[in-house]
Amino acid sequence: MRRKLIAGNWKMNKTPDETVALINELIPLVKGAECDVAVCVPSVCLHAARAALEGSGIWLGAQNMHWEASGAYTGEVSAGMIKAVGAECVILGHSERRQYFGETDETVNRRTHATVTAGITPIVCVGELKDQRLNGYTNAVVTYQTAIALNGFSADEVRALVIAYEPVWAIGTGLVATDEQANETIGVIRAAVRAAFGDAADEMRILYGGSMNAANAAGLLRQPEIDGGLIGGASLKVHDFASIVRAAG
Ligand code: PEP
Repeated sequence: MRRKLIAGNWKMNKTPDETVALINELIPLVKGAECDVAVCVPSVCLHAARAALEGSGIWLGAQNMHWEASGAYTGEVSAGMIKAVGAECVILGHSERRQYFGETDETVNRRTHATVTAGITPIVCVGELKDQRLNGYTNAVVTYQTAIALNGFSADEVRALVIAYEPVWAIGTGLVATDEQANETIGVIRAAVRAAFGDAADEMRILYGGSMNAANAAGLLRQPEIDGGLIGGASLKVHDFASIVRAAG
């Protein structure tokens, strides 16, 4: 039985003070949750968030990181730095990183290796574009993205990683995959993991992300393949995010 994970992706929102205020509102609302909960905040807010989250059991996450440990990479942060500031997880390969910042499957793979070396959990995003779905390429796209992201890992390492299936056409658009579409495509991703890593696929958590909200979360989270959610817009509305957390319990 895989424990569900509900992770908020705050994107480029909130100052450190606003981060602390939102976390202070959130903590009592998700106390006693029967799933894992994470908030992935802007890098400059990690330090303030760590202090605010202390004792809450909520995971702290970043939204991106470089694959090298240190060096001449102006503007970047490393897995070791994120770990040192107290993050337990990091989103990798989000479609906004792929679309606006040239992220590729190969660099997602390198970043994923760096998280394992540093001892933090990656939430690796995969998902098809609208045209790819309309033309019947969804399964091929997510299978390929998954295979490249996980290239070079052992089954033992893969067990503990998290994948988020995020159809690009559903992110921030209000369009949500149907329960069946999300469940089926996550099943395809799990089959790709099983083909390469055997039983590790049964332990790996695969989340759905894309316009998940308080109203549609219960249906999605009831699906047998869906192990939680990566939540963008709704994660900034504490009551909506808390409803999604409750729907996962
Ligand atoms: C996301 O950014 O990962 C996401 C799923 O966004 P939204 O929930 O706003 O679609």
